[in-house]
Amino acid sequence: MKPTMLADGFDNTPKTGIDKKTNNQDAPINSNELDNEQPKKPTITDSSEFNKANIRSFLNTMGLKTQWEQSFVCPCVNPMTISPDPMCAICHGTGRAYLPAKKDVPIAIVGNNKGKRSTEYGTFDEGEARGTVQADYRVSAWDRITVPDAFVRQQYMFNATEQRVKDGMYIPYDVREIIFAVAMKPNDPTSYREVNPVNDYKFDKESNKMYISNDLEGFNISLIINATLRYIVSNVLKELRYQYTKTNNAENPVFDELPRLISLRREEAFVNNIPLINPSTSDLTKKADEKSYFLDSARNTDAGFGF
Ligand SMILES: [Zn+2]
Repeated sequence: MKPTMLADGFDNTPKTGIDKKTNNQDAPINSNELDNEQPKKPTITDSSEFNKANIRSFLNTMGLKTQWEQSFVCPCVNPMTISPDPMCAICHGTGRAYLPAKKDVPIAIVGNNKGKRSTEYGTFDEGEARGTVQADYRVSAWDRITVPDAFVRQQYMFNATEQRVKDGMYIPYDVREIIFAVAMKPNDPTSYREVNPVNDYKFDKESNKMYISNDLEGFNISLIINATLRYIVSNVLKELRYQYTKTNNAENPVFDELPRLISLRREEAFVNNIPLINPSTSDLTKKADEKSYFLDSARNTDAGFGF
């Protein structure tokens, strides 16, 4: 068959007279853009609704198996400084404490953005993920979500004060292993040395503390850690998703809650990963600033690091 060419039958002679299409008496214009009638009431009831059992099964299959720890404000706060106790055995000076974890809570990560943000210190990202939590788990802001199946690389540095050498240094991540450690005295490049896990430190998984040998007192210790992936819930974007379920209840629809939508941030956005303190033990009351959780640690207390 002969192909139809675009030019076939094209009539480029100028049109004159009445436009038969616009002025077609048999097809009056009925645009609803010009219609000033009220919207009509639907005559058919739309019976579409979410199938709760299907959503539950989907999240059980596709969601990450997480551990959910509910957060509360640690009561160690000092009313004089309005700060948590840096030596608190419950919150370790962060002001946040957690109830024992609920295991295998399915959460489907449904979005992940870099969250680029510009400040006076430059541009950096806050890395935000969104998750849909299995129905009936009332996950809320500040709660901690652990993904036991995944681990991430984490950097950490602290100065080995007399107190930290004596009591051990609490590492605020779920440490799987310390894969690299170096030490150097401030303003003394010749003191740079690798830190040997056999002779120089012991890591106690029970207390999550690193015990350093006495001869490293006064050094800054820098670590590369493999840590379990953990998120802090920074916001509950949709606390109440719901529907009035009509299936099997046509006369009296049942109010059903559907899985909530939460916003998650990697815990490193909240945890100061360079907790340098004045070597003088009298300054151990220096407060952990938690007024703003948007990378406050990186912005205010780690000035000069990471940018
Ligand atoms: Zn506390």
